[in-house]
Amino acid sequence: MAIETTKATRRTALLKAGGVTAAAAALSGCGSTSRLPDSRQKSVLQVQQTFIPVANSELVFPVRRIYCIGRNYRAHAIEMGSNPDREPPFFFQKPTDAIQYVAPGTIADHTYPPLTKNYHYEVELVAALHKGGRNIPAADALGLVYGYAVGLDMTRRDLQRAMGDQKKPWEIGKSFDRSAPIGPLHPVASLSGGHYQKGEISLSVNGTTKQRADLSMMIWSVAEQIANLSQAFELYPGDIIYSGTPENVGPVVVGDVVVCNIVGLPSMSIRIV
Ligand code: MN
Repeated sequence: MAIETTKATRRTALLKAGGVTAAAAALSGCGSTSRLPDSRQKSVLQVQQTFIPVANSELVFPVRRIYCIGRNYRAHAIEMGSNPDREPPFFFQKPTDAIQYVAPGTIADHTYPPLTKNYHYEVELVAALHKGGRNIPAADALGLVYGYAVGLDMTRRDLQRAMGDQKKPWEIGKSFDRSAPIGPLHPVASLSGGHYQKGEISLSVNGTTKQRADLSMMIWSVAEQIANLSQAFELYPGDIIYSGTPENVGPVVVGDVVVCNIVGLPSMSIRIV
């Protein structure tokens, strides 16, 4: 399969495959939407499949859905104005083409999006699934995880809040173009600590630490998130989960350099342009 990647410094670094055939092959066994219903039929156009490169390899990971958990660290739940003790987990989605791949060792240009005056960072551990299912017990859930990456759940906070105040959907605040920067995927087998249950997660802006916490402080662990999600949705290979951000989210402006770190993974850096 011929893969070409754009320069990491460009706005997006989506990887492209050769249209529906490659997409269908990449997603085979993964639902029916990407397959032509009849081999004699031809698609009227090609739709780009999103891939995330796998670290230190020629492999790429096809993204089917992006799930994100909300308010999953106690102090962040409090700063968002909710009760961390009572709230069950809740999830939203971003479109797969919101992925902006950021190669290690680069600072990717990240465009300040339209319509917002309060654009926020949220550093998050991302888990990528290579198996799916329904009603997965938490004890079995990590068996679905292929690997992990550093991600940013970029947020137009003013729009998110305004929509929340009006009891309208969050899409415009959370699910816009390039709202999901991500580093390469690291297969579980390549991680010295295996599955992430703990470890420091942090974010700096222009060299000043803004967010710093430990992954063990998640209210709902990655395994619990998978178990919970699988009760609401059938999960499939290719689904990825942004596992929530710690406290001290905040705004960026054009020119800021945001550096994200999770212990054991390479840094991920973006510059707001
Ligand atoms: Mn988030």
